[in-house]
Amino acid sequence: MQLCQKQIVQMNKIAKYIFVTGGVSSSLGKGIISASLAKLLQGRGFSVTIQKLDPYINIDPGTLNPYEHGECYVTQDGAETDLDLGHYERFSSSPTSQANNVTTGRIYQNVINKERKGEYLGTTVQVVPHITDEIKRSVKLLGQTGQFEFVITEIGGTVGDIESFPFIETVRQMKWEMGSSCAVVHLTLVPFLKAAGELKTKPTQHSVKTLLEQGVQPDIIVCRTEKHLNEGIKNKIAQFCNVSKDAVIESIDAETIYEVPLLMREEKLDIAVLNSTDTPIPAILDLTNWERFVTRLKNPKEEVTIGLVGKYVELKDAYKSINESIIHGGVENECKVHVKLFHSEQLNDKNIEKKLAGLDGVLVAPGFGRRGIEGKIIAIRYLRENKIPFLGICLGMQCACIEFSRNVLGLEGAHSTEIDPSTPYPVIDLMEDQKMIKNMGGTMRLGAYNCKLDSDSICYSEYGKEFISERHRHRYEFNNEYREIFEKNGVRLAGVNPEKDLVEIIELKEHPWFVGVQFHPEYQSTVKNPHPLFVGFIKAAIEHKHARELLEMSR
Ligand code: GLN
Repeated sequence: MQLCQKQIVQMNKIAKYIFVTGGVSSSLGKGIISASLAKLLQGRGFSVTIQKLDPYINIDPGTLNPYEHGECYVTQDGAETDLDLGHYERFSSSPTSQANNVTTGRIYQNVINKERKGEYLGTTVQVVPHITDEIKRSVKLLGQTGQFEFVITEIGGTVGDIESFPFIETVRQMKWEMGSSCAVVHLTLVPFLKAAGELKTKPTQHSVKTLLEQGVQPDIIVCRTEKHLNEGIKNKIAQFCNVSKDAVIESIDAETIYEVPLLMREEKLDIAVLNSTDTPIPAILDLTNWERFVTRLKNPKEEVTIGLVGKYVELKDAYKSINESIIHGGVENECKVHVKLFHSEQLNDKNIEKKLAGLDGVLVAPGFGRRGIEGKIIAIRYLRENKIPFLGICLGMQCACIEFSRNVLGLEGAHSTEIDPSTPYPVIDLMEDQKMIKNMGGTMRLGAYNCKLDSDSICYSEYGKEFISERHRHRYEFNNEYREIFEKNGVRLAGVNPEKDLVEIIELKEHPWFVGVQFHPEYQSTVKNPHPLFVGFIKAAIEHKHARELLEMSR
């Protein structure tokens, strides 16, 4: 194969490695700091990818309950990954893959598989060097593609955790072997003690000591704080933690995560990283599009309220990508979107009107299993009958098909065989190639698949094209035996997978905006390219609100 000059230049990049570790407490926002750093480096013209190393034993988070781990994010290549990868893609717009999320479970599985094949030639297989070599291989894999100048690797957990020892040991070895081609950013918490009226640096000092005990000197310390760090505090942290004052970066609590790259620019995080990796600093840092997004986010011209019906509504992270996509769709319409959460188990025929009346649109969430299903179906009936904009995602789309079958087609007891295997009307059924599958991990229909849109559909006008590709995560699908009766009675089968003839989208012909999608549009919405379906959904909600206001005025 002949490569043109530009491709050769693009493929020959020599990567530098930036590790992001966390100390003092979990949930300080390592993912957002990593994604913000990537954004700044991209703004300076570098190509960057971000990877997450997770210290747990599961091979991937695909089998984890959202209560344990929040949302499971799906990449184009069908990997079920940590939700931080969603932030990486939303910030950097550069697609991630299986290689961008590696767990302890996967590392051990690879090592044990090699041992069984005899690849270790009779040696005793140990944490050091075999596990650490495998971690190193997984980190360098991304660098070796030749596509990236920086590989940012976020290490899950908090330093000092038993589970993250092999990862930190790998960082130590890579720093030793690679010198200035490798840097460590350590994120800590600088708490404000109300009683003392002071910010405290001691937890940061201790967490850097923990890192030092494992042989790693951080190059940059990012301090999460609710109050500004004064010069004295920065000097103190620099002095106790062996870094220069310029490498002590304040990360003050922000109103929205989308402000963090701009705050990090002010604090010169990118310059600190470029300096510690001996990288010449390009003169221009272009964040024009990002700034425009944040300005629009903070200065909306409209407001709407969207309902989100799901069964994990008490969990902040369970519908992460959906919530962020709603924000993106809002910004594109210069609209602030209030999201009101509804627990589907608490919705019934008696309270549905009281709960949903007055909303400008409702999204019915994806999910698995029986719990909360009937509430979703009741909500959808209300939205259909009252012509309120509806977006149903995956299980949300499946519930819309069940609702239509029962209440419009009169197919009493219609269901998905996931919930009721003996339903007389299995409008949603297990996919043929799923029937023999016994293992649960990584065996759903996962990742990007093509879809051809009907040119008369709402979706066609939202996407503005006929062929799309969207990511999936499901085992059940629309049962093709019901296509004809659905179409004859007002449903538009708006999108079909051309390879397997699977129904991917349903719409209602007699409804202003009723869209159910078997795929997950939320995995592809980014700051740079807000997803057309979310943009269209919010636009429909704005129109619905205006129409309702006009009606009220005329009364
Ligand atoms: N439980 C459904 C299925 O497996 C829907 C999955 C989802 O909503 N992601 O088909």
